[in-house]
Amino acid sequence: MKFTRFKDSKNNVLLGVVTSDGIKEIKGDIFKEWEYTGKIFSENEVIYVAPLEPNQVIGIGANYVSKIEDLPEALPEIPVFFFKSTSTVIGPESTIKIPSDLEKVKFESELAIIIGKEAHHVPESEILDYVFGYTIGNDVTAPQYFHQDGHWTLGKSFDTFTPLGPVIETELDPLNVRVEAYHNGLKKQDSPTNLMIVPIKKMISYLTNIMTLKPGDVILTGSPVGAEFLKEGDIIECKVEAIGTLSNHVEKVDKTAKV
Ligand code: MG
Repeated sequence: MKFTRFKDSKNNVLLGVVTSDGIKEIKGDIFKEWEYTGKIFSENEVIYVAPLEPNQVIGIGANYVSKIEDLPEALPEIPVFFFKSTSTVIGPESTIKIPSDLEKVKFESELAIIIGKEAHHVPESEILDYVFGYTIGNDVTAPQYFHQDGHWTLGKSFDTFTPLGPVIETELDPLNVRVEAYHNGLKKQDSPTNLMIVPIKKMISYLTNIMTLKPGDVILTGSPVGAEFLKEGDIIECKVEAIGTLSNHVEKVDKTAKV
């Protein structure tokens, strides 16, 4: 099932399920109880927005190798995780806004996990039962704002730096998809998810040993090799075939982060 959020012609933000007959409006809470309203919208009369308002956004750093032979024998004892501000989240076709003093800003196409049930100390063998579904994330990053001591939060947390969408797919085998990125139409990233260093189940299970994950938490699972820098006017399309394509354009804005 493909869940979406969208704006109608009056700019109301509505929930829906994408079907071959159109977008069927629903009401309620996608993580608890919901029902169809009976209204159906066609794709060309709506504007997709981010498919959820995340409770929190967590990312993992440097999590792919380029080929199976490069996978390390031992996993990192403490993987690099970071938080992204929820104000980074934008939807499909929205603008990634780069403050004028950021020299280098990267795109990172990623499979994003949406948690559906409260999860605390959940073993790997059960962890996928706590996942509601999957969407595509672009973990836009300004490495210049990584702290020299290793903190990544600021460089990850500029407003508009986490496009999400276009839908949440609930019937996906996350261990068997490809994560792609097209930069101005040219393919730059294309990896199966089995090239992750910390695999998906281990990643989420590990997090639940540290913190209770809750419905609406989003985990960005890392980006394949090949991410590059963005500039004004670029179009970046992140793609996971079973979910769709998340397309955003890039604008420089006359704002500075300097203190
Ligand atoms: Mg990333």
